[in-house]
Amino acid sequence: MKKVHNFNAGPCVLPQQAVDKAIEALKDFAGTGMPVICVSHRSKEWSAIMDECRALWKELLNIPDTHEVVFLGGGASMGFLYVAMNFLENKAGYLETGVWAKKALKEAKGLGNAYAVASSAETTFNYIPKGYEIPADLDYFHVTTNNTIYGTELHEDIDCPVPLIADMSSDIMSRPVDVSKYAMIYGGAQKNVGPAGVTFFIVKKDLLGKVSRYIPTMLNLQTHIDGGSMFNTPPVFSIFVMNETLKWVKEMGGVEAVYKMNQEKAAILYDEIDRNSLFVGTAAKEDRSLMNVCFVMAPGHEDLQDEFMNFAKERGMVGIKGHRSVGGFRASIYNACPKESVQALVDCMKEFEDLKK
Ligand SMILES: *Cc1c(COP(=O)(O)O)cnc(C)c1O
Repeated sequence: MKKVHNFNAGPCVLPQQAVDKAIEALKDFAGTGMPVICVSHRSKEWSAIMDECRALWKELLNIPDTHEVVFLGGGASMGFLYVAMNFLENKAGYLETGVWAKKALKEAKGLGNAYAVASSAETTFNYIPKGYEIPADLDYFHVTTNNTIYGTELHEDIDCPVPLIADMSSDIMSRPVDVSKYAMIYGGAQKNVGPAGVTFFIVKKDLLGKVSRYIPTMLNLQTHIDGGSMFNTPPVFSIFVMNETLKWVKEMGGVEAVYKMNQEKAAILYDEIDRNSLFVGTAAKEDRSLMNVCFVMAPGHEDLQDEFMNFAKERGMVGIKGHRSVGGFRASIYNACPKESVQALVDCMKEFEDLKK
């Protein structure tokens, strides 16, 4: 198999051991003599996986008993609707930090009164707004903790006078989180915790059931809490791989240890971007994401963009093209992206600079 360095934004690199376990389970799942995609989701072997996966979430993120973890289909984009359906009664506020935040806000607007409390849209979302005030009369305040496309990240669990809801699709399990500060944390698995097809919701249970609208059964989070994420058929294969991915996080020493690795990896790459005369970072330094590192050619060197792209490609770099809305480059260096890959990209940038001297 060809050796590549995978910087895809999602779906993306997963721990090799999780992939290997998935391959094994496609042959014979838990000694059942059947592939994991062919067993009943009501079997005891499958129930054991669900229980293990839920328990790992709770353990790795220190989730308090006030909260429950739910796994569903639909992606984070469906999560935007779950948020509004289950929590919006009078008014909701959103921190508009990127395209995903805007899409989340759009769903809420479709159901009621929702608006952007603060926004960095005027500078193409290259920073996280600060110094804004969160009105005390909101049903909830919604943040996108990591802006996958722009490479900015909210590095703290903010103090919020109203229930705080966070889309953590692209930084969940990458750093410790004080779950008790959130009414809900949700996201698609396909960036840090598994393959596409499963979406996680960590919900503060006593905040549900407060809206007056009719919530369709499948969109009601209470349905899925009551059903143990098996009200209907769960995405079994995605959950299986997510479980293996979480086992890997635990083996690495847990979220705290993975966070240290992520800080190291990001520092290696940002240091090179800041040192190298041919490249500049696009995100405000204090808001730089540990997960998605965005950069462009330095002023005066814009014409080298395609050449560098090809240069990097020839050296095994995959997925470093920036999102179409910002251009340039983006290296997604999620939990499972090895330090060697980050180093390989840095070497590539150095080599390219030498070549152009
Ligand atoms: C990828 C992403 C989404 C969309 O996820 P889907 O599962 O494809 O709907 C939403 N929010 C953020 C922050 C993302 O990175």
